[in-house]
Amino acid sequence: MIADLTRSLSDLLTQERARFLAEHPRSVAMAKAAAAHWRGGAPMHWMNDWASPSPIFAAQGVGAQITDVDGKLYDDFCLGDTPSMFGHGDASVAAAVADQIKRGAGFMLPTPSAAIVGKLLAERFGLPLWQAATTASDANRAAIRWARAVTGRPVILVFDGCYHGMVDDAFVVLKAGGPAMKPGLLGQVHDLTATTRVVPFNDIAALEAALAPGDVAAVLAEPVMTNCGMILPESGFHEALRRLTRDAGTLLIIDETHTISTGPGGYTRAHGLEPDVFVLGKAIAGGVPAAVWGVTAALSARMDDARARIGPGQSGIGTTLSGNALAMAAMRAMLSEVMTDAAYARMLAGAERLVAGLRGVIAARKPLWSVVHVGARVELVFADPPPRNAAQMRKALDHQAVEALHLWLINRGVLIAPFHNMMLVSPVTDDAAIDRLVAAVDGFAAAMGE
Ligand code: PMP
Repeated sequence: MIADLTRSLSDLLTQERARFLAEHPRSVAMAKAAAAHWRGGAPMHWMNDWASPSPIFAAQGVGAQITDVDGKLYDDFCLGDTPSMFGHGDASVAAAVADQIKRGAGFMLPTPSAAIVGKLLAERFGLPLWQAATTASDANRAAIRWARAVTGRPVILVFDGCYHGMVDDAFVVLKAGGPAMKPGLLGQVHDLTATTRVVPFNDIAALEAALAPGDVAAVLAEPVMTNCGMILPESGFHEALRRLTRDAGTLLIIDETHTISTGPGGYTRAHGLEPDVFVLGKAIAGGVPAAVWGVTAALSARMDDARARIGPGQSGIGTTLSGNALAMAAMRAMLSEVMTDAAYARMLAGAERLVAGLRGVIAARKPLWSVVHVGARVELVFADPPPRNAAQMRKALDHQAVEALHLWLINRGVLIAPFHNMMLVSPVTDDAAIDRLVAAVDGFAAAMGE
């Protein structure tokens, strides 16, 4: 039975790869030409991690659709893996960015928009004091560094299966019950398991035990795990996480980079979380590289103390592009004109339609699949019930099946984010696009004999 399924998956992949190559001559030719100077034919290695046998070269994005250089039109449920979550080519962001770039992109000085953005962030997310970074990875690294600085503790704690960007400290997983560095962490010479502790998500007892030594500076967590399939927190988990971190004198960093799909104030506002640090990147500047992190007044005061200890003439480390005029102009447009309640209402309604459609496929064809979502971010899981931690999810994440589904969708004009089955609904995704995605998933389930 398993051998049959494996054979049919590899047959399907062979057919779909041939179809892709035949239908994308220009993308294939561009990748070949680009390979002379870009390793693997693309400027960033993840662009090669899609299920297509050669990278798709994008020509343009409009709303929730992309056209490639072969003239193929795609319904885009990847949306750049979140930076374009509110749609491509938004007119307000385009106008703000065009206006600012003519007047200067960066001065290493604040602009009038900075004052407005700070106020908008505080009002929306509830934390009073903010700093900017260039990527969510940078923001998380800054948060970890400050947490260690203010607590004087070396350890950070993450959940198995987490992803928080290019943050070396977070690349520690549970392997055979113990911590291990991820193989992807090429070139790391320090044993990060000495200063990163890792526990399964939803395991309150393991969390309590890991905090008990009193050496954990911060827990870094997504409120819903969205980078190892999607794993929802069980009832009571967030309350326990906050209570236990407080009791242990450990800071709580909530990374909302993906879960901003929940609603206008992220998962934090929707569920009344009380983080010490709130991190947000990707979509916050509509695709202009930018991120922000907010802190409580109490933590800010401790940061002032830590900074006072380093003496005059030094203010710590940073990067020059962070918080520049361009990023501030884009964030201002996003926060005031794009990430509106009305936009969220459309995204959430679209996501409900997608969830219902996918559940309809499962009900009709009866595969052992399930659907979970955090607001406008929807995941099709190849397991039912959906896993409650990464160890279970790894068993469910059949990489060949994921690749086959993704390539099947690409060939039918639908893009979803690589790596697992995550689908983002934007405010400009129309119902017809959602229905096309559902129909394509149904076709895949039928082809798999589900
Ligand atoms: N945090 C989370 C939760 C993420 O999913 C990601 C990226 N997938 C990041 C941080 C890093 O974002 P960036 O790639 O913009 O640095």
